[in-house]
Amino acid sequence: MSGIPTTPAPFNEPVLEYAPGSLERAELKAELEAQASRIVDIPLVIGGEEIRTGDTFDVVMPHAHGHVIGRAHRAGPDEVDRAVAAAAAAHHEWSTMRWEDRIAVFLKVAELLAGPWRPKLNAATMLGQSKNVRQAEIDSACEIVDFFRFGAHFAEQLYSMQPLSDEGIWNRAEYRALEGFVYAVSPFNFTAIGANLPGTPAMMGNTVVWKPAHSAMLSNYYVMKLFEEAGLPPGVINMVAGDAVAITGRLLSQPSFAGLHFTGSTDVFDSFWKTIGENMGTYRTYPRIVGETGGKDFIAVHPSADPAAVKTAILRGAFEYQGQKCSAASRAYIPASMWKELEGPLVEETAALTMGDVRDFTNFVNAVIDERAFAKIRKYIEDARDSDDAEILVGGECDDSKGWFVRPTIIRAKRPDYISMCDEIFGPVMTVYVYEDDRWEETLELVDSTSPYALTGAVFARDRRVIRHAVDRLAQAAGNFYINDKPTGAVVGQQPFGGSRASGTNDKAGSMMNLLRWVSARSIKENFVSPVDYRYPFLDEA
Ligand code: NAD
Repeated sequence: MSGIPTTPAPFNEPVLEYAPGSLERAELKAELEAQASRIVDIPLVIGGEEIRTGDTFDVVMPHAHGHVIGRAHRAGPDEVDRAVAAAAAAHHEWSTMRWEDRIAVFLKVAELLAGPWRPKLNAATMLGQSKNVRQAEIDSACEIVDFFRFGAHFAEQLYSMQPLSDEGIWNRAEYRALEGFVYAVSPFNFTAIGANLPGTPAMMGNTVVWKPAHSAMLSNYYVMKLFEEAGLPPGVINMVAGDAVAITGRLLSQPSFAGLHFTGSTDVFDSFWKTIGENMGTYRTYPRIVGETGGKDFIAVHPSADPAAVKTAILRGAFEYQGQKCSAASRAYIPASMWKELEGPLVEETAALTMGDVRDFTNFVNAVIDERAFAKIRKYIEDARDSDDAEILVGGECDDSKGWFVRPTIIRAKRPDYISMCDEIFGPVMTVYVYEDDRWEETLELVDSTSPYALTGAVFARDRRVIRHAVDRLAQAAGNFYINDKPTGAVVGQQPFGGSRASGTNDKAGSMMNLLRWVSARSIKENFVSPVDYRYPFLDEA
């Protein structure tokens, strides 16, 4: 019955290629067709029960917005309260369950997803969030698998961190779950974040109320089903959808609110923090607040860099998944000498990027997520068209007749503080600022000070002294810093992810640093031979 188990050695799930003729391609195509031809009724999941309120909203394909693929039920105040009660009811059994049993649930999630569940989650992510097959594969398959394989390993390491014991004494650390529920609020852009935000606190013994983004409901519902399939007990994770403001207001006013695991935009996170501050007197415990937020991610190019590598980093870093990654490159600083040879090929290749429906695998880019995003991105493009401080070099066409399509766009800013160099646009828009070659030092200052964010950034250079200097000079400019590589595509276990300044609390998703936020340590000291006399020797007369 007793033993000290070790978890399986973690490894990153290999990314499948989906080349023509491959088995994985055939399976995925069949699943895409099946999912596109039905409308999934998406309930709330509370205490293991599927709850249908009848108050629904449509889940559509962003690349064919007239095509409904799901109908999701909205939670009202009663359902939110039920979710809190379900989390409380599950708390004791789950938080005191042996850690290897909790971990086993999530290792099983990983293996089911690496195998039979893979096409289902990938297809739902492709159709519901408009991701091409590769973008879905690295997200809804590989990253989720990695989160839980590595999470299990880090949990074991964390639990193994034990204090020293003096003679006659045994000191132990016990890593308790938080006393209350964790509220997990996830964004639309990564199914893997949807799985990680509720999953990781749950792995550490917490119970959770999870609110997915409304535009990711289909894939996120399948994540919930996958948790259940892997044996997660009822009430450990409770999924509610609907009016984000109302749900949040109700949850953040509960005395048992013990932690927030948020990923999304900076303004929304700020509003949560404010509400939590205002409600401080209500809570039983100081809540843990973890939020990963926006970015204005840079590519800073030194004259010594390789132009071909810079071009590829811009094309992939700025336009994959339509620029809707918090890590997406959206401002680049290029030396004038290089711009002369880079501009032509960059514009030409951007213009040639294929765009359309995810079911046509020849498309490199697809649609942006919804009408609101489309309107916001179009506004920045129109401003650039009308401004004397900017010029659109390629792209700029927006067409929402069938889907929310925005052509990959490159703006050249004539001023380094032009608005699209500063704001997070969250779309396929890259702004380039061309600097005089002898102004590298001033350019590094611009990179560091132009936006309030500090999420990801890349420096391209061949000269080693330049690389060393940039790494030091930009020490606070990015939580994920890349040398001669695009600033996107962080891999769990390899580049723990997160940024500081207005980009979040930098608790590094997919690392032990994140796991630490979901436990509350108890130090236990046991004395084997208890003292029986209160007097110390110094009290004796000489
Ligand atoms: P969002 O802020 O609009 O939504 C995130 C979540 O918050 C959703 O579940 C949404 O329903 C909820 N929400 C929105 N407004 C709310 C409100 N007023 N009150 C309560 N809840 C509210 O973000 P999004 O559009 O889903 O995602 C894009 C943003 O997320 C970008 O800013 C991006 O940079 C950021 N992001 C950051 C990371 C990271 O790791 N730093 C990763 C992915 C996305």
